[in-house]
Formats: sequence, structure tokens, C-alpha cells
Amino acid sequence: MSARRLLLLGPPGAGKGTQARRLVDALGVPQISTGDMLREAVASGSPVGREAKAFMDSGRLVPDEVVIGVTEQRLRQADAASGFILDGFPRTAQQARALDALLVKLGVKLERCVSMRVDEEELVKRLLRRAEIEGRSDDNEQAIRTRMEEYRRKTEPLVEHYRAAGVLAEVDGMGEMDQVAKRIQEALG
Ligand code: AMP
Repeated sequence: MSARRLLLLGPPGAGKGTQARRLVDALGVPQISTGDMLREAVASGSPVGREAKAFMDSGRLVPDEVVIGVTEQRLRQADAASGFILDGFPRTAQQARALDALLVKLGVKLERCVSMRVDEEELVKRLLRRAEIEGRSDDNEQAIRTRMEEYRRKTEPLVEHYRAAGVLAEVDGMGEMDQVAKRIQEALG
């Protein structure tokens, strides 16, 4: 597995975070999860957190300029110089364009976009299960429905952006975690 600049694309509950953490171990590059960073910002009560909280709780996307700023700062840190696994960013066309521009500025290329395909009914079941286990404030049924709609409308079209860029790898995200991890490894060559 040689690609070290990756992004994981998929609907909420597809297991992006889990798979990203496994890739961290396999590749030795950091996971960059905008969801995790935003939750930390909310917990610390920072200005970014205060701006993001209502959007996150209702399942809507946080405004592009906020998320782009957070991600740009993170990608400029030293540990991301040798690679990164983006998890949950980009989620809109504007974010994708900002990422393209930033990577040009940093003089690096995105090597693969792994798109995880999952059955939607199964996803909702997974999210409701996770709601019980983790108690996330955006895992109630209405917020889950909103997150799915946001994904379908704003994020799913990015699959074509990365297909056109020639970096898309589509992976079946159904089944056991280990199986999915294996498929991703194969897709990464
Ligand atoms: P996640 O943990 O990736 O499912 O993200 C949780 C929530 O954080 C999402 O429902 C959004 O409200 C917000 N969020 C995370 N990443 C982004 C992003 N790239 N753009 C906009 N909002 C985001």
C-alpha cells in the first residue's frame, strides 16, 4: 500500500472513522476528521465550536468557511507533511475546490478518494445503534434524516469530482469491519 494522501467519502454511519483509524495504523499518517475536530471545538467552547454547535446538533453541515479554515490549519501542521487520511472532508463542492487549491499550494497531490458504498436502511440502523452507545447529540432520528439529506444533496456529487480527477476507488462498505478494511487495502493497491 503506497498511497499516503487519501480521503474517505461516504454517508454518515458508513464507517469512515473506523476505517480511517485502521489506515492510520497501516500507513503511519494522521487521520484528519473534521467531525472530531468540530466536536472538540464544541467541547472546549471555542469560537469555532460556538458557531458549529447548532448546525451539528440539527444534522446540518457547518458553513464551508468555518470547516475549510479548520482543515487548512490542520493540513499545514508538520505531521501531515508526509501524508494524511481525510475523514469527513470535503462534504461540499466548495470544500472540494478549496482542498484542491490548498494541495496545489502545499505542492502535494491527493492520491486516492475511497468512496464507501452502503445501503441506506442499514446506515440508519447503525446510526441509531451508535446513538445508544455513544450518546452523540446529533444521533436522534430527525438529525440522522437531515444528515442523510445533506449527504445526498451536497456530498454525494463529489464522487464525480474525484472520478474526473482519476483518483476514485469505489468500495463496498457493507459487511464486517475486517472485510471492508480488506477491500479498502485492495483498492489502494
Ligand atoms: P461526522 O462525525 O463526520 O459525521 O460529522 C459530524 C457533524 O459535524 C456533521 O453532521 C456536520 O454538522 C459537521 N461536519 C463534519 N465535517 C464537516 C464538513 N466537512 N463540512 C460541514 N460540516 C461538517
